[in-house]
Amino acid sequence: MGILDGKVGLVMGVANDRSIAWAMSDALYAEGAELAFTHLPGQSSERRVRRLTDPRGAKLVMPCDVQRDEDIGRVFGAVGEMYSRLDFLIHSVAFAPPHELRNPYVDMSRKGWHLAMDISAYSLVAAARAARPLMTRGGAIVTISYYGGEKVIPGYNVMGVCKAALEHSVRYLAGDLGPEGIRVNCISAGPMRTLSSAGIAEFDTMHDHFARKAPLRRNVEFGELGGAGVYLLSEQSDGITGETLHVDCGFSIVGL
Ligand code: NAD
Repeated sequence: MGILDGKVGLVMGVANDRSIAWAMSDALYAEGAELAFTHLPGQSSERRVRRLTDPRGAKLVMPCDVQRDEDIGRVFGAVGEMYSRLDFLIHSVAFAPPHELRNPYVDMSRKGWHLAMDISAYSLVAAARAARPLMTRGGAIVTISYYGGEKVIPGYNVMGVCKAALEHSVRYLAGDLGPEGIRVNCISAGPMRTLSSAGIAEFDTMHDHFARKAPLRRNVEFGELGGAGVYLLSEQSDGITGETLHVDCGFSIVGL
């Protein structure tokens, strides 16, 4: 018996087996959840994701570019047709043009800023709106942020601004959807080696610094993000919404 037996979730943001979304999926499967997945459009993305999801028997695996409302509509329409409802949603999606991430924030172009904000922050709003009519028995939504949304972290640049917007969107969405029993929360994860983090110029410095300074004197492990995901998506956290939970070995409490 798992604490998510009979629950249906949609996971947006698995790129490969190092994705935070996959770490969470692993933990959710272990608790009995039924999961549907989206991946970036394209054969190689689909192949990489299906290699993980097919052995788990995932019935719904669909392409979705979060910049396209029609893709989002198609995915949530298919979830509705297959399951008639949705209990939870994981949003684990972000992107900024790599060359712009490497430049100082002051040099950010208007076009790059809009693109990063659209994919990394607005997409949560669009996905929550599409999930809402399917969350007929209430529901839970979780997105993933980073400490660079609260403080200036060298090299994180526009993504930090996107994360600030994402974390505050979590609060406003929690305010809007709370009366319908839909909870919206955020996990602020410590630095993890993933496809996305490879685009952050100062990532190695960030990673080493975390392990030295965090009270637990190490970096976060993927399974720990999975555990936090299970908590925030299950009834165990029924009284919690609009929250950003730091899963960062305590790094964010340290002042110096
Ligand atoms: P990842 O590369 O595995 O995941 C990022 C996902 O975003 C990929 O699946 C990618 O396909 C998806 N994506 C990008 N553009 C998209 C678009 N237009 N439409 C749909 N999907 C799109 O890397 P990750 O580190 O697992 O990142 C997941 C989330 O965790 C991101 O929001 C990231 O900012 C956040 N995060 C990462 C770290 C870290 O150190 N890796 C730390 C804190 C927060």
